[in-house]
Amino acid sequence: MFENLSDKLDRAFKVLKGQGTITEINVAETMKEIRKALLDADVNYKTAKSFTDDVKQKALGANVLTAVSPGQLLTKLMNDELAALMGGTTSELTLTASPTVILIAGLNGAGKTTFTGKLANFLKTQKNKKPLLVADDIYRPAAIDQLEVLGEQIGVPVYTNRESKDPIAIAKEGIAHAKQNGNNIVIIDTAGRLAIDEAMMVEIEQVKAAVNPHEILFVVDSMTGQDAVNTAKVFNDRLDFTGVVLTKLDGDTRGGAALSIKSVVNKPIKFIGTGEKMEAIDVFHPDRMASRILGMGDVVSLVERAQMQFDEKEAAELQKKIRKNKFDFNDFFNQIQQIKKMGNMKDLMGMIPGVGKMMKDVDVPDDAFKGIEAIINSMTPAEKENPDLINPSRRNRISKGSGRDIQEVNRLIKQFEDMRKVMKQMSNPAAMAAMMKRMP
Ligand code: GDP
Repeated sequence: MFENLSDKLDRAFKVLKGQGTITEINVAETMKEIRKALLDADVNYKTAKSFTDDVKQKALGANVLTAVSPGQLLTKLMNDELAALMGGTTSELTLTASPTVILIAGLNGAGKTTFTGKLANFLKTQKNKKPLLVADDIYRPAAIDQLEVLGEQIGVPVYTNRESKDPIAIAKEGIAHAKQNGNNIVIIDTAGRLAIDEAMMVEIEQVKAAVNPHEILFVVDSMTGQDAVNTAKVFNDRLDFTGVVLTKLDGDTRGGAALSIKSVVNKPIKFIGTGEKMEAIDVFHPDRMASRILGMGDVVSLVERAQMQFDEKEAAELQKKIRKNKFDFNDFFNQIQQIKKMGNMKDLMGMIPGVGKMMKDVDVPDDAFKGIEAIINSMTPAEKENPDLINPSRRNRISKGSGRDIQEVNRLIKQFEDMRKVMKQMSNPAAMAAMMKRMP
């Protein structure tokens, strides 16, 4: 995410890093580089200019008061200012009404329907809500099918009326349906167009007037940079939406949309989409995003993602198994599945401070676990449960069955055994204490 921008900002900072003090001259030089980096990332010109003017003033003003180095001071200032630029604080959905009606708007291809599914899944699994989806795109039957497939996948009902050609009526029917069926959230996926179009605007304005939504979320593809910002402006002038959803931040988007949208339309970014899967949705936190852009990682989000995927009861069971030294290949396999659900590997690594920068040119395949999975899948149930059974001839069979080299099989089993040893020590307080004592 935003690797190019991070890189260029890092280089801009170098001007100051070697210097003992902040002066007009070295700050001006750094700001010039930062402005260039922002413009290259497709940040709106006015936004980039007022941003750097602001940081410059604060840097010069703060210098006398602090004991930190100019580089550190600038990092802190940039972090605060970037966060402020993206909205400052996290902006949550208002979900108090029952049902809460959420209207989803945007151009075709922006990721509207995908986001509608992701949001329903998020509200269901993270907020304990009972959402209903409403398919209000009367022009594309495929869009209705797509929503139904997503609904099925996440276990959320979808209201459709394929006979009707009246989006206002469908939206109202959807809400009535939700009330009858105890759904406390209604998410309406509206029709888009390929480009801004008067008929679409009128239609969505009418739907808005008819259903009086509590939230109107404008979905936009972050890869489209300044176009995204311009489209957002037009939609906001007509709809006065409550928040922005930036999709496709997992791609090599330059970051311009994320950095300029708030200052141009003055509406908060509420969610980001980071992949095609239903789990690839994040609440947008300006401060954490700032820290990621500056290459400082985002440990808080990483931990949250882990918490979302790992079930407490399961974790307790697993701990029991570890304590009894019964951790087996089935558990190992399950752990891998959970890690995979946390998201794209490179994205996860980018959340660890320093690692994002280190890994920027490294290709991390999404199927990094494929070999391990193939090997485990070629074990018999008895072998999975009792790894001690796996003697050399069984290793050969597993290697042939999985199509992986025998060295790879041996390496995995060795790593697994080492892991079990460490687990055993950690679960034994006496052994742990002895180990600690040995440490320098
Ligand atoms: P709509 O026309 O606005 O409803 O757009 P869709 O929801 O059909 O999405 C268009 C395409 O973008 C689909 O292929 C989606 O899988 C893809 N897409 C949506 N959101 C994301 C995202 O956050 N990341 C990536 N990589 N792809 C996405």
